Amino acid sequence: MPASPPTLRDRRDPLTSRLRGFGTTIFAEMSALAVATGSINLGQGFPDTDGPPEVLDAAVDAIRNGVNQYPPGPGLPVLREAITRHQRRFYGLEHDPDTEVLVTAGATEALAGALLGMLDDGDEVVVFEPMYDSYQACIAMAGATAVPVLLRPQPDGRYRFDPDELRAAVSPRTRLLLVNTPHNPTGTVLDPDELATIAEVAIDNDLTVVTDEVYEHLVFPGATHIPIATLPGMAERTVTISSGGKTFNTTGWKIGWMCGPAPLVAAARTAKQYLTFVNGAPFQPAIAVGLDLPDAYYDELAADLATKRDHLVTALDAAGFTTYRPQATYFTTVDIRPVEPDGDGVAFCRQLPERCGVVAIPNQVFYARPEHGRHLVRFACCKRLDVLDEAAGRLAGLAAGAPT
Ligand code: PMP
Ligand code: GLN
Repeated sequence: MPASPPTLRDRRDPLTSRLRGFGTTIFAEMSALAVATGSINLGQGFPDTDGPPEVLDAAVDAIRNGVNQYPPGPGLPVLREAITRHQRRFYGLEHDPDTEVLVTAGATEALAGALLGMLDDGDEVVVFEPMYDSYQACIAMAGATAVPVLLRPQPDGRYRFDPDELRAAVSPRTRLLLVNTPHNPTGTVLDPDELATIAEVAIDNDLTVVTDEVYEHLVFPGATHIPIATLPGMAERTVTISSGGKTFNTTGWKIGWMCGPAPLVAAARTAKQYLTFVNGAPFQPAIAVGLDLPDAYYDELAADLATKRDHLVTALDAAGFTTYRPQATYFTTVDIRPVEPDGDGVAFCRQLPERCGVVAIPNQVFYARPEHGRHLVRFACCKRLDVLDEAAGRLAGLAAGAPT
C-alpha cells in the first residue's frame, strides 16, 4: 500500500490574519465572469487596442537585441532619465535619475514598496475612500491601519471631501497621507483648493504624502491634473507614483515608477528589492520611448478617451442610472437605484452578465466602510467605440425593463 501523504496537522486558516477578508480581487472575479459568459467587459480597466507602434517596436527591438536579463535594481538608466525628462516637461519637477527615481513592477509595486518600506506596525495612513483596492491590502500587509476620509458625489458629478473630516482623521499615529488623482473609481481630478488643503494638512502635521497619479494623462477637457508635489513645500515630502500602463495602453507590461526625495525613494526601494527585485527589462526602454513622444500623442490619447467617455455616459444615462460624469480616467460611476431599487451593487454586478451580457465592478470593494458604496457601480470606457455602442444597446434593455 502506498504511504498516505503527510497531512498538515495545523488546521488554522493558512492565510495570514493581516489579509483576512481580502479574498480574490474583484477584477479577477469579474474578468473571469466576462470570459465565462462571453460578456462585454466594462469591469477591469484595460484598453482593447494597442498603444503607439513606436513603443511596441522598441520592446520588440529590445528583445531581439539582448535586453533580456535582469535590469539594474533601480531600473534601466534610459528609463529613469526619460522619467526625469517627463516630470520636467509636464510639471517642471526636477529629479536626480540615480537617487530620486525608482522603476517598479507597475504602480502596484510602487505603492507596495512605498507602504511596506515606510510603515511600522500600528501606524495610521489617511486614505480617501473609495480607493483603489490594493491600498487597503498593502496597508494591512504593512501592519498599519487605514483611516478613511469619505469622498461624496456632488451634483456636478465630482466627488469631494470635507476638509474638517480630513483634519480630524489625522492622529499622532498618522505616518502617511495616500492620495490618488485623477481618481479611480470616481474619475475626479483634485482641484487647486483641494490640493492646497491636503498640502496644508501634510505640512502642519509633518506627514509624508504618497500620491498615485497613474491617470495623469487621461484627463478630459475642462480639468487639469496638478501633481501635489508641485505645491509649495510638498516636493520634499511627496512620493509620486505613475505607470506606463494607462499612458501607452500597455497594462500587461507592468512598468511603473516613483519619484521623490532620495531618502523616501530609498526606503521604498529597500522593500521593492525583496518583492520582485526587478522586472520587464525589454519593456523599460520601450516605455522610455513612449515618455519622449511629442505632445500630440498625449493630446490625442486624452481626446480619444474623452469621446469614449461621452459614449459611455450617454449609454449609462439612457439605461436609467444616475451617472456621475468623470473628469478623467477610464471610469464612470453610477448610482444603480433608479434601475435596481434594492441598490445592492455586488448582486447587480453578479447578475448583469446574465441579464444583458455586460460586466461592471461594484464600487463597494473600493470602500473601507462598504455601506457608503453599496449602491454604486463602475463602468470602464477604454474600449473601441463599436464595443461601447454594442454595450449601450445591451444596457438599454435595463431601462426598458425588458425581460432578460
Ligand atoms: N493605481 C490606480 C488608481 C489604478 O487604477 C491602477 C490600476 N491600473 C493601479 C494603481 C495599478 O497600476 P499598474 O497596473 O501600473 O500596477
Ligand atoms: N486598475 C484597473 C482597474 O481599476 C485594473 C486593476 C487590476 O486588475 N488589478 O480596473
